[in-house]
Amino acid sequence: MAPPREHAPLAERVEELLAAGGPLPIVAAGRPVLRRGAEHYDGQLGPALLARFVEALRVTMHAAPGVGLAAPQVGIELRIAVVEDPAPVPEEVAVARGRVPQPFRVLVNPSYEPVGTARAAFFEGCLSVPGWQAVVARHAEVRLRGQDEHGRALDEVFGGWPARIVQHETDHLDGTLYLDRAELRSLSTNEAAAALWAQPTPDAAAEQLGFELPR
Ligand code: ZN
Repeated sequence: MAPPREHAPLAERVEELLAAGGPLPIVAAGRPVLRRGAEHYDGQLGPALLARFVEALRVTMHAAPGVGLAAPQVGIELRIAVVEDPAPVPEEVAVARGRVPQPFRVLVNPSYEPVGTARAAFFEGCLSVPGWQAVVARHAEVRLRGQDEHGRALDEVFGGWPARIVQHETDHLDGTLYLDRAELRSLSTNEAAAALWAQPTPDAAAEQLGFELPR
């Protein structure tokens, strides 16, 4: 495989990426683009190409399937991410995790800060770390600021599972993977997580794998 043309202008690289059509290839852990941190978006793609890029991110997220996707995960170091969660989980899981449906939205230049000191710990995974899940303690509530795809200001408080999603995706834009924040003793294959740790909370996993949960 030819090396990616990392020095071509971003707009040119995005055009090339979109030329094939369909879902974009997802970059896996180990690639520097996931670790460098992304550039502030300041119109580098122009409105028409940005709209096509956002649509390609949406198609790729759906195809994966996933509930969020950040531009570095398709090799583009811009501070852009998409999120959408239809929350197709059993009621008791939805209640324990605050997993309420999140409509499709685009986050441009997002940043977050905690609201209060509460933390919530649950298993999560990442499309760039396929096959694995681990428990991550995150802020239970965050204030997210940035813009949407039309440049309109975004300033909103997120709680429950949507708070987890926006922290995970914003972290990607800073070159952080969820494993950096995870309880590594919780690391489980998807098979093990489905067989053993599908309960609404990770309490049993904490006890049997030997890690602490925030209280
Ligand atoms: Zn991820």
